[in-house]
Amino acid sequence: MNYLFEVRDKKPERKAVEPEKPIAPRDEAAGQAPAVLGKADDLFDCWWCQARCHDVIDEYKGRWKVECCFCGSIQAVDRVEGVLPELFTFPSGRFAGQSIESVAATDRGLKFVVWAAEKHDNKEVQDACKFFLDSHKPTV
Ligand SMILES: [Zn+2]
Repeated sequence: MNYLFEVRDKKPERKAVEPEKPIAPRDEAAGQAPAVLGKADDLFDCWWCQARCHDVIDEYKGRWKVECCFCGSIQAVDRVEGVLPELFTFPSGRFAGQSIESVAATDRGLKFVVWAAEKHDNKEVQDACKFFLDSHKPTV
């Protein structure tokens, strides 16, 4: 018999059901409090509850975003030197993205930091290097 469509006697075998894919791992960071860069106690009054206990949760261009430890209010304040010195990273050049501390850990890097404290074009870098050298007397 000639059919318009091909007729099979047997239904094609179904593929075995694929095992369920494992559930994608949840992003642990999602929904969690932001990483704390450091503590800034006794430096600012909370605008809401006047507590003086803050976590520094972000830093950008000399300003901090701080979170009150008691009420959770977030406010922006001027960075305070000396509280989180390790946060400074070189913005450009050979040591871009590295902290002064890690750069100064090598002889060559320390020479660079000493040079930068005197002659770096970027005032921010110069100040940070000066501050670092003042607070970490090199053993050389
Ligand atoms: Zn508060």
